[in-house]
Amino acid sequence: MENLYDILGCDPSASHERLKKAYQNLALKYHPDKNTISNTPENHEMFIKINQAWKILSDPTLRSHFDLRWRERSLTQDWPVQDDIDFAEFVPDSMEPEFFSYPCRCGGRYVLEPNDVTLHLDIVCCDTCSLCVTVNYSES
Ligand SMILES: [Zn+2]
Repeated sequence: MENLYDILGCDPSASHERLKKAYQNLALKYHPDKNTISNTPENHEMFIKINQAWKILSDPTLRSHFDLRWRERSLTQDWPVQDDIDFAEFVPDSMEPEFFSYPCRCGGRYVLEPNDVTLHLDIVCCDTCSLCVTVNYSES
């Protein structure tokens, strides 16, 4: 998971208007139909990243979810990661199909909320013990 504020070149405290301006400037700069920069695969990937970052940060619910997860993630980075799991191995919850889970060896579960999936949250901790796993999303 990348820091979406870094992609837009803004501080986490930036206002909605400030983020919007930064997004518009970058989107214009990296737009494949504009000739302001060369049309390389790297620049095209950057254009996609800019749009994904704005899609999340322009939505107040997703933005606060990202802020929360980013803080948690900076704490969990010091914790031992037990395993590397493909997102495809997570199964939809039988009661709430928009939630995905993967069994932990302790009997607990690693749970991804719908917003976590949207954010492509890549470190998730067990709901019962202190183990964490990284999640690989196949599509970039
Ligand atoms: Zn566990």
